[in-house]
Amino acid sequence: MTAVTVHRARAVLPVAGPPLADGAVVVHGDRIVDVGTHDEVTARLGDARVDRVEWDGVLTPGLVNAHTHLQYTHMAEVGQATHRGFETWMQAFMALYEREHDWLGSAAEGVWLSLRSGTSAVAEIVTDPDAGSAVHDAGLSGVVFWEVLGWTDAAWADGGRATVLDQLRSLPSPPPTGISPHAIYSLDTSVIRDLARLARELGVRSHIHAAESAWEDAYVRTGTGELADRWRANGRGEFALLQGGGSGKSVMGYLDGLGALGPTTHLAHGIYVDADDRRLLRERGVSVALCPRSNAVIGLEPPPIADYLREGNPIAVGTDSLSSSPSLNVLDDVVELHRLARAQGYTDDDLHARLFAAATAGGARALGLDIDPAPAGTLAPGARADLAVFPVAATTPGDALAELVESGASEALATLVGGRMLWNADSAKENAGV
Ligand SMILES: [Zn+2]
Repeated sequence: MTAVTVHRARAVLPVAGPPLADGAVVVHGDRIVDVGTHDEVTARLGDARVDRVEWDGVLTPGLVNAHTHLQYTHMAEVGQATHRGFETWMQAFMALYEREHDWLGSAAEGVWLSLRSGTSAVAEIVTDPDAGSAVHDAGLSGVVFWEVLGWTDAAWADGGRATVLDQLRSLPSPPPTGISPHAIYSLDTSVIRDLARLARELGVRSHIHAAESAWEDAYVRTGTGELADRWRANGRGEFALLQGGGSGKSVMGYLDGLGALGPTTHLAHGIYVDADDRRLLRERGVSVALCPRSNAVIGLEPPPIADYLREGNPIAVGTDSLSSSPSLNVLDDVVELHRLARAQGYTDDDLHARLFAAATAGGARALGLDIDPAPAGTLAPGARADLAVFPVAATTPGDALAELVESGASEALATLVGGRMLWNADSAKENAGV
């Protein structure tokens, strides 16, 4: 047997089980083979050849960023401004987007920032093909989604499917690829229906922006409102929802009617949802990636995190891109969700554990990475060796969990993806001659 590596830390948060003081995770190849206290694990090692790493911090599953566009990492000037709502943000975004960009360089920097903050897997949305290889090149885990937008039913009928298939196939694997129908207001009705069918036929996952802005609701229900007016003025009045006076349904009801909600789909944002919408999402097994800092930058309302928690919806955490967020650090959004949950009246003492689970196991579930033979998002024998280590002042595992959820960590000490150390703060310092 080749050597196993024992990662020992003063606190280990397996997520799959209770926090451990003086814990250890044993890695062989790309898998975790044992998790326990350091004493337990040592007793079980027998005469295996062992490499040992001791970490001065808390060892956790790698974070899962369940909604991002690493391609827009070089568009941070839009995300660092504040906006009055979706319309003004979109104008600022488009003005910068239309300039010349090195999309691959931008996405590669986003990958590096992700690894540096403890993220091992991403739901990455690619809009321009040049950005498509960054996640693959770096060996980051997750799903790379090809973004589909702007199609009318008529254009789609004239070869749309074949075009999207070619675009999807041009993305390098691993990781697995998926389809991201951008949003209900940027795609015509039959296109959304056919993309859901196409994803099922190909056996790939889908990821949709939904219930992000207040505009969407009037647009979907009655084909009216500011967004509908703007589209009509811009020559997009051809969309069936605008022609037909809306669907009479909520955003979630409309998507469900098109066959677009199911366990292989996850949504981003999910802000403007009521109890019926949330119930529908639970019934369909649809996870929502919450991105509260992006919502705040754009000038939207916060997501109803307390309701999602109380009602038991599957949730995950995303940063969105630097074009609408101050950082690609998932823990910064966890900190914001903690603040929001308390402000919205969630008082249960499981909040730390549930929010940290959302950023790890919840993200893995949203991306379909939680399945055998090597599930991600938890520390357990047989799981994928996607690990992160964070510096904390806390000395007990419970305090370390509270510290991560309430204060975050600006940088990880290390990030391992499939057993490979892709970020190590100490070697980064040595290389920089610090
Ligand atoms: Zn987005």
